[in-house]
Amino acid sequence: MNEPTIFKRIIDGEIPASIVYEDDQCLAFHDVAPQAPIHILVIPKKEIASIEHITPEDKALIGHLFIVIQTIAREQGLAEDGYRVICNCGKDGGQTVFHLHYHLMGGCNLQWPPGPAPTQENG
Ligand code: 5GP
Repeated sequence: MNEPTIFKRIIDGEIPASIVYEDDQCLAFHDVAPQAPIHILVIPKKEIASIEHITPEDKALIGHLFIVIQTIAREQGLAEDGYRVICNCGKDGGQTVFHLHYHLMGGCNLQWPPGPAPTQENG
């Protein structure tokens, strides 16, 4: 059997996290390595590995996650100036934890655009 992901272990209370929101469907907690003044991860409790593993039966759950993201953003004082929501998918998308999660980032002006990671060819 596959090892549980780090996020499944957080859901199960096996490892600690700084939780900002929880309900029966999802959990949100501060990222351990924040890349912005506010960097919160919002995850479903259901084990869905990535965007590629979402099915039509998850439609309501995915909508719920975005309502929760909006609620947390407002609570964190991000609504007026704005924020960014990122969902990395798979290797090229930069996903490192294979349990669906949305990064909610804000509290400063975030740079844009992202792009190809540096390689030996492009430096
Ligand atoms: P990904 O690269 O998969 O889109 O994002 C995974 C995120 O999970 C990263 O931003 C990383 O800092 C965060 N992360 C990894 N392990 C832990 C952990 O044990 N606790 C918390 N709170 N965040 C984690």
